[in-house]
Amino acid sequence: MLQHTVRSLLKVDAFVDGNWIPSEQRFSVYNPATGETIAEVCDADPALAERAVEVAYKALPAWQAKTAKQRADLLRAWYQAIMVNKQVLGELMSSEQGKPIAEAIGEIEYGASFIDWFAGEAERHHGELLARSADDKRSWISKQPIGVCTAITPWNFPNAMITRKVAPALAAGCTIVVKPAQLTPLSALALMQLAAEAGIPHGVINMLPTSQAKAVGKVLTEHPNVRKFSFTGSTAIGKQLMAQCSSGMKKVSMELGGNAAFIIFDDADLDLAVEQLLAAKFRNAGQTCIAVNRVLVHDAVIAEVEQRLITALSKLKVGAGHEQGVDYGPLINQEAIDKAQLLQQQAIDAGAEVLCGGKVLQQLGPLFYAPTLLSNVTATMAISQQEIFAPILALQRFSSEAEAIALANDTPFGLAGYFCSNDYRRIGRVAEQLQCGMLGINVGIISQVYNAFAGIKESGIGIEGSSFGLAEYQVTKTITLGGFT
Ligand code: ADP
Repeated sequence: MLQHTVRSLLKVDAFVDGNWIPSEQRFSVYNPATGETIAEVCDADPALAERAVEVAYKALPAWQAKTAKQRADLLRAWYQAIMVNKQVLGELMSSEQGKPIAEAIGEIEYGASFIDWFAGEAERHHGELLARSADDKRSWISKQPIGVCTAITPWNFPNAMITRKVAPALAAGCTIVVKPAQLTPLSALALMQLAAEAGIPHGVINMLPTSQAKAVGKVLTEHPNVRKFSFTGSTAIGKQLMAQCSSGMKKVSMELGGNAAFIIFDDADLDLAVEQLLAAKFRNAGQTCIAVNRVLVHDAVIAEVEQRLITALSKLKVGAGHEQGVDYGPLINQEAIDKAQLLQQQAIDAGAEVLCGGKVLQQLGPLFYAPTLLSNVTATMAISQQEIFAPILALQRFSSEAEAIALANDTPFGLAGYFCSNDYRRIGRVAEQLQCGMLGINVGIISQVYNAFAGIKESGIGIEGSSFGLAEYQVTKTITLGGFT
C-alpha cells in the first residue's frame, strides 16, 4: 500500500470512470481556521453528472457479476489503503473542515470501519428458501443489488458520511455517484485516489465536487437510470430531494437533522453526566446531527450542574485543528457563526442568561466560538427548536419525569436522545418513551459501525451501518421454480 503525503493526496478534479476530470470553472476551498484558500476544485456541472450516472450504469453488470468474495477483497484493499494513510487523510480533513487532527483521524477510522464491515456483510448476506407448497415447486427469495445509486453528503463528516453510503452500495453489487459538500470536497477526492489504488474498477465509484448543488442534485435524483438515492443533510433539503426522487419512484435513504435532548435526572451520577454531556456536545464544535441541542436538568440538581459546567467549560481548549490538545476548532463558516449568535441573542431577549462564553474568540479568528453556557432557556425559544450546530449548551429545567419526557419529545425531529439516571426502573420507563432512533443512557458517544444509525419522525428514513445497512441497497426478488418432479 502506497504511503502518501498530504500533497500527493490533494486531488482537485472530479473523478469519473476512473479518470480525473478537470473543468475550466472552479471553486475555492478554504481553511476555516485561517481563511486561506487550500485549493481550486473542479466545478462539476449537470452534464458531467449525467455522464457519471451513465458511466455507473455501464459499470454495473461487471461489478454485480463479481463474486461476493471478489467485491469484499477489493473493499478490504480500499480499507487498508485508507488506514495506512489515516494520518495524512486526517490532516487534509482538518484543514478543510476545521476539526482537531486527532478527531479527524478518529473519523477516518470510523469511516473506514464501514468499508471493513460491509466487506464482511457482502460475504454473509443471503436470501431465503421458502416453505414448500407443492412437490414440484420451490420458491426462494433472492437479494439483488438495486442498481445505480447516487448520494449527496454534508461537510461535517467529509469522510464517514461518504463511506457509510458507498461501502454498503458496493458490497451489495451497486455502483454509485456521489456529490460531496462544496465546503469539503478534498477528503472525498482523496478517498477516490485510494479506491483507484485499491483496484476498484473504473466507473464503480464516481465523485462530483460542485458549487452547483441544485442542478447536479436534480440529475442525481431524477435521472432514469438511478434506482436509489441516499442523502445526509438538513431536513428541509431532504424533503425537496425526496420529492424529486418520487417522480421515478426511487428508493431513498434520508439521514436528516435532529434536536437531541440530554436529560439529567436528579438521581444521576453528576460526574459522569457532565463528562458525557461534554462529549456529546463539543465533538466537532457542536456541528453534528446527533449533537445535544437541549439540556434538560432536574430542578434539584440544576444549580450544581451549572457550577460544574462553568468549571468544565473554562478548561476546554479552542484552537486550530493542527494545534496540540485542542478540544474543538472553528465553525465551518461565517453563516454558522451568524446563526449561533442570532439564536443566542433571541434566547437572551426572551429571558435566557449567559453563564459563560457567548462570544466569538476574535484573538483566534472570526470563526472560533467560545464554549458557551446559557441558563433559563425555555421550550418556546428558537434555540430549543432549531439545530444550533455550535458550541452552545442551552439549559432548561424540569421538575418531574413526565415533564422531562414531554419536553424531550416536543419536536418534529427524532434522531438521537440521551439521559442520565442511576435508577433502573426509571431507565426502563424513559428508554421506552423517548421518541428517537438512537438513545444513549449514561453515555454521550453512541456512533459505531455495528449500531443502526437511523432517525425517526422528520429525522429520516432508512438505516445506515449495522446488519440492516446492506438491505438499503438491495431489492428482493421472489423466484418460484416449478415442474421438476
Ligand atoms: P448542511 O446544513 O449540512 O449544509 P444541507 O442540507 O444544506 O445541510 O447540505 C447537505 C448537502 O446537500 C450538501 O452536499 C449540499 O451541497 C447539498 N444541497 C444543498 N441544497 C441542495 C439542493 N437544493 N439540491 C441538491 N443538493 C443540495
